[in-house]
Amino acid sequence: MSTLKAVRGTRDLLPPETALWNRIEATARTVFARYNFGEIRTPIFEDTALFARGVGEETDIVSKEMYTWEDRARAQSEKTQTLTLRPENTAGVVRAYIEHKLGETGQLQKLYYIGPQFRRERPQKGRYRQFSQIGAEVIGPPSSGSESPLRDAEVLDMLASLLDELGISGWTLHINSVGSSADRARYNETLRAALIPLAPQMCVDCQRRAVTNPLRVLDCKIPEDQPIIETLPKIVDSLDEESKNHFAAVTAALDMAGVPYTRNHRLVRGLDYYTRTTFEFTHGGLGAQNALLGGGRYDGLSEAIGGPKAPGIGFAMGEDRLVLTLQALDTLVAEKGHAYIAPLGEGMNPAALALARELRRAGLTVELGEGSFRLKKSFETAEKVSRRIVILGEDELASGILTVKDFATGTQTKVPRAELAAVLAAPANA
Ligand code: ATP
Ligand code: MG
Repeated sequence: MSTLKAVRGTRDLLPPETALWNRIEATARTVFARYNFGEIRTPIFEDTALFARGVGEETDIVSKEMYTWEDRARAQSEKTQTLTLRPENTAGVVRAYIEHKLGETGQLQKLYYIGPQFRRERPQKGRYRQFSQIGAEVIGPPSSGSESPLRDAEVLDMLASLLDELGISGWTLHINSVGSSADRARYNETLRAALIPLAPQMCVDCQRRAVTNPLRVLDCKIPEDQPIIETLPKIVDSLDEESKNHFAAVTAALDMAGVPYTRNHRLVRGLDYYTRTTFEFTHGGLGAQNALLGGGRYDGLSEAIGGPKAPGIGFAMGEDRLVLTLQALDTLVAEKGHAYIAPLGEGMNPAALALARELRRAGLTVELGEGSFRLKKSFETAEKVSRRIVILGEDELASGILTVKDFATGTQTKVPRAELAAVLAAPANA
C-alpha cells in the first residue's frame, strides 16, 4: 500500500518551529491591542459569490486559484450552494461588517484576524496552497473618519512597529497611490497609448497586456523589459487633486512619525474598488517571493458586495514568509526547559512524577525522565532539552537534598528541596 502524505502545497508544522509561529502570533496580538484592534474570526469557507464580487472575477485569485465545490442540498429546505475555501480574509471581514451592521455603531471598526487561507498556486518556497495570514482592517462610515489619511499612516506605523518588534530587520515599505477608479481609468488609457510604440520590443505577456490590461505591464518581472517600463508615464500624474492631497497627507504623517518608506510608482492594484494608498513591505531574505505583506485602501469594497458606504484600509501579512525571514536572519536560539528530572531506578519513577508536578506547578518547564535509563543516557537526553538535570535517588528522597547539575557551567550542587524551584528558575550560568 502506498503511504499517504500531506497534500501538495500543504505542510505539517512541527516543534520547535511551531514555537516561532506562536511567538509571531503573540507579538502581533500584543501590538494590535496597543492600537486598540479587536479580533474577528470569520468562517473558513464562504459563498463563492463573495469572492467573485469582493476580490474580483478578473484577478488571478478568483480566475484560477480558488478551491470551489458544489455543496449539495441535504434537505428540501436547503439549496445547493457553490462554496469556496477563503483565499483571503478581507472580503469575509467586510461581509461580516455588513451582516452585523457594524457601521450603525458610528464607530470606526478596527479588526484583526489570524488564520489559514487557500489558493491553488504552484507550490514553491514561500508559496503554499494552504498558508496563514495575519491581517487587519480599519473600516467605518465616512463620519467615523475612516477616509482620513491619518488612518493609512497609522496602519503603516503599526506594521513598521510590528516588524521591528518581531526582530525582522531590513524591511522596505513601498507605497503608492492609485487614486479613484476614474483616475485609474484615465491612467489606463494613458498607458495604453504610451505602450503602442513600445510593446513590440517587450515580452509576449506584455504585448498582450498592452492591449487587454495595460496596468498589468507594471507587474512584469522580465529583466529586459525593466528599462522600458521605467520610461512609462506614472500614475501619480493621473491623480485628481483630492487623491493627490490625500497621498501627500499620508506621507507627511509618516515623515513626522519617522516611518521610513520609498515611493514605488509601479505598485498598482487593478480592481475598481481599490482606491488611493497601496503598499507592500518586502524583505531581501525571501528571494523571489519577497513580499512580506500587501495592503491598501478599498473605499468602494463594501458597496461592491451590497453594503453601505464604508471606506476602509487593511493589509494581509504572509505568516509563512515571516517565519522564513526570521529563520534566515538566524537570530533564533532554541529555548531549553528549566530542568530534567532523572529518577535513579524505576522504583523512583512515582517520586519523580511528584517532584516534576511540584516544579511545574511553580511555573517551571520540566522534562520527566525515566528510571530504567542508565545515568549516562539520562545526562545525554537531559542536555538536549534542559538547562539543568536533577538527580532523584533513594538518598535524595530521604534527605530532601537534591543533586543539580548546570549544563552551561558544568557545576554540580546540592540543593534542599524547598529551594529547588528558585534555584532552577535562576538564569543558567548565574
Ligand atoms: P504574491 O505576489 O506573492 O503572489 P499576492 O499579491 O498574491 O502576493 P496578497 O493577496 O496581497 O498577495 O496577500 C498578502 C500576503 O500573503 C503576501 O504578501 C504574501 O506574504 C502572502 N501570500 C500570498 N499568497 C501566498 C501563498 N500562496 N503562500 C504563502 N504566502 C502567501
Ligand atoms: Mg499571488
